Amino acid sequence: MRVIASFLLLPLALSAAAAQAPSFSENVRPYVAVDAPVVALTHVKLIDGTGAAPAENQTIVIAGGKIQAVGANVAVPAGAKVMDLTGHTVTPGFVGLHNHTFYTTAAGRRVQLNFSAPRLYLASGVTTIRTTGSISPYSEITLKSQIDSGAVPGPRMYITGPYITGPDATMERAHVRTPEAARRVVSYWTEEGVTWFKVYTGITRAELAAVADEAHQRGAKVTGHLCSVGFREAVAAGIDGLEHGLMANSEFDPEKKPDECPRGFARVNSELDLNQPEVRASTKEVVDHQIPITTTLAVYEASVPNRPPLAQRMLDALAPDVREEVLTARARVAQNNNPLAARMLRKEMDFDLAFVKAGGLLGAGVDPTGNGGALPGFGDQRNYPLLLEAGFTAPQAIQIMSANGAKVLGAADRFGTVTPGKLADLVVIQGDPVATPADIEKVTLVFKEGVGYDSAKLIEVVKGMVGVR
Ligand SMILES: [Zn+2]
Repeated sequence: MRVIASFLLLPLALSAAAAQAPSFSENVRPYVAVDAPVVALTHVKLIDGTGAAPAENQTIVIAGGKIQAVGANVAVPAGAKVMDLTGHTVTPGFVGLHNHTFYTTAAGRRVQLNFSAPRLYLASGVTTIRTTGSISPYSEITLKSQIDSGAVPGPRMYITGPYITGPDATMERAHVRTPEAARRVVSYWTEEGVTWFKVYTGITRAELAAVADEAHQRGAKVTGHLCSVGFREAVAAGIDGLEHGLMANSEFDPEKKPDECPRGFARVNSELDLNQPEVRASTKEVVDHQIPITTTLAVYEASVPNRPPLAQRMLDALAPDVREEVLTARARVAQNNNPLAARMLRKEMDFDLAFVKAGGLLGAGVDPTGNGGALPGFGDQRNYPLLLEAGFTAPQAIQIMSANGAKVLGAADRFGTVTPGKLADLVVIQGDPVATPADIEKVTLVFKEGVGYDSAKLIEVVKGMVGVR
């Protein structure tokens, strides 16, 4: 079924590739491991992103930046560069929906990572990101154009404007006090090239409605990390996405007042009965309006004592002082041994599962922070074993991390699954993450639009830089 007639179009695809091939700069070329007109990956275990069961012994033919053929009986074109990947698994490139280009250190400092974030995302298999809240939108605009032109290695970017919120102590956010001010922020940044906005915990219902209306008029969308506005209020105000899942929904807190963020709703939610009619009604409303939710399990896990396993590659990527902050925060979490964080993580997993069972569209993202422990890319990979722990199957977890993200971005026809005709965004993993979930970290090659990048080299070049640049 996967062997397709688009093979007939191969010569056309090849000439198009020759015309469009980006000229890589000296910042990119050393990391390009595979860049041939036709590439055939053979003998792979394939998890294709559609939710279908893994398939053994598959061949994937890539040309012109796109997937040309996939299947067990695909003929390898003459002259193709053949890579025998026996013992490897291939998944679609991951689509990270909450993937900032900045990092919040364990001590609470926000650092724009123009150098390390794009390289770590790409190295980890994340071929597309939505930045979902920016502290420096112009950095992202410039970074995106550098990546698109081949000057810098990195993922495809969907840029988000500044966080839009009410009065708030954080300086890097756009603090609006009226719906008119909110409209001005949206109007300015859409002109500059931003396609998504993120509203934050202090927004009012009227301001959110103004952001959504202005964004929609300009072809942009709005997601939110909410608190002052509950999920159902946000749906009514026209929001297009909800970040963090249940743990950012304040509407079940009996103390909740309109347009105010209640203090103790995390505890309320950690004890919530997900089968209670009000919770089911809320989920149904989100599902009925086809509003996607982004889960960020890796960032919640970092508040749970002694989790995740301390990874040497994470410590190596951090700047020395930032590494000390991470280790100090981790020791403090272990010492406090507060059971709330573990309960919240489990409740969020249960909610994610219930949301998908109810027909909801769930995507995933890293949110690089979490006591400093969730790094760009590495944290996206960590979501995989956490989704399995939640109760999803391996094909479902990969689907959430890839195809569902593409759907949220309105790009499911272009990327997100390993399907002929789509962009050749592929993650090559040494091992079998179905049998051994931790193998998800053993990424060797990442294809973005048919060009294969060397994961280890990209990770090597950012050593000691997370927290600095
Ligand atoms: Zn965030």
